[in-house]
Amino acid sequence: MIHKFKLGGFNILLDVNSGGVHIIDDLTYDLLDNVEPPFEKECPPEALSKLSKAYDPGEIEECYQEIVQLYNDKILFSEDDYERFALSAVASPVKAMCLHIAHDCNLRCDYCFASTGDFGEGRKLMDFETGKKAIDFLIEKSADRKFLELDFFGGEPLMNFGVVKQIVEYARSREKECGKTFRFTITTNGMLLTEDKMDFINREMSNVVLSIDGRKEVNDRMRKRVDGTGSYDKITDNFKKFVSMRGDKDYYVRGTYTKYNLDFSNDVMHLYELGFDQISVEPVMADPSEPYAITEGDLTKIFKEYEILAEKIKKIQSEGKFINFFHFMLDLDQGPCAIKRLRGCGCGNEYVAVTPDGDIYPCHQFVGIEDYKMGNLHDGTFDDEMKTVFAGSHVYSKPECKKCWAKFYCSGGCNANNYIYAGDIHNAHKLSCQIQKKRLECAIMLKAVKMLDTAE
Ligand code: SF4
Ligand code: SF4
Ligand code: SF4
Repeated sequence: MIHKFKLGGFNILLDVNSGGVHIIDDLTYDLLDNVEPPFEKECPPEALSKLSKAYDPGEIEECYQEIVQLYNDKILFSEDDYERFALSAVASPVKAMCLHIAHDCNLRCDYCFASTGDFGEGRKLMDFETGKKAIDFLIEKSADRKFLELDFFGGEPLMNFGVVKQIVEYARSREKECGKTFRFTITTNGMLLTEDKMDFINREMSNVVLSIDGRKEVNDRMRKRVDGTGSYDKITDNFKKFVSMRGDKDYYVRGTYTKYNLDFSNDVMHLYELGFDQISVEPVMADPSEPYAITEGDLTKIFKEYEILAEKIKKIQSEGKFINFFHFMLDLDQGPCAIKRLRGCGCGNEYVAVTPDGDIYPCHQFVGIEDYKMGNLHDGTFDDEMKTVFAGSHVYSKPECKKCWAKFYCSGGCNANNYIYAGDIHNAHKLSCQIQKKRLECAIMLKAVKMLDTAE
């Protein structure tokens, strides 16, 4: 399978199964619209006559022979030898957890998927006892995995920071005896960040997600306080201070764009100009009846905006400056772990979410969906069958993904979005797919430009 597209002044060709990216000339681009395996000895007469209006017949034949050679060398139309890895996609130990330390929040964001923090289950905070059980559960279910990841999540986790500290202390106290190392992360809206919290987080957390949408008017339209006023002024001050104190430890600012800011490249640039260089800005996923929801009709504008953003990032990088926009990051080397490439986030299998009541779900986005409750820490239940279902959810068990050129980068999309917006974890959510594919094309283009620069 190949995928080709024009972007940034380049003709780009991806050989899907080998992951090879090539910049090709117009003739090769056009000829590939007309020929495919199995190849004849000579260029098929139909292709020759069709293209000879624009190209010299001798050059067409020469180009055809080059394509055949690349095919014989397994560089183009290479075979898919990944499906065999899917057969070994069995349940694996749990190694990561999203700990809902607070089902409460001090903001009232319009687009909040968590019903402004309480997930529709009433505002509550996790107690230490439940947190302790979550750590014990993770240690027990992780079998021989040494490195365990725990993300403090909400609502707003800083509303229950005392328990965060207790849990970190407890987990650290168990590391040696269990032969485990915890890697903590936290996701925060920043309203309650104080210097002592910053100190603790910088000491203990390997990564931090700082939520902000971009320009003041964009952020404040959606990310509001309880009294309806905006959060921008408070959080930008806090985040700037925090990042300056963090040194070279990982963080990223994470925003959401909606129908109201389809010119979101300006928000990415605004965040960059504020001094943040690790940036993620993602489309809102919402019921299409919501006024801020992104719909099919917005896609043309969104695609154009990603192209604009890619150009802006290309320019920054060409000036030797650093910016990391998460959705344009791409591992073209196919990475070491085939299963991860096929299965993506690992939700419900390697990764689970735990609520303040101790309920266990496949991930934070499934919280509150009764059919996807996997168990509870207090009564000791855990649905291993559901775990097996998620373990087997990969690009070869999803009909649309199996034939999709983006499958090895997208890994089958978000199971939660698939379920919520397309009715089944195995049904690709078309709107997400289209956005994902456009982002990947931009990412591949940026990577190709880098490859060219390095080659020169
Ligand atoms: S900060 Fe997060 S949890 Fe709180 S209302 Fe906004 S989106 Fe929801
Ligand atoms: S979720 Fe969509 S974009 Fe991703 S692999 Fe499946 S079909 Fe392709
Ligand atoms: S299912 Fe979706 S929301 Fe849940 S962890 Fe995976 S990618 Fe994230």
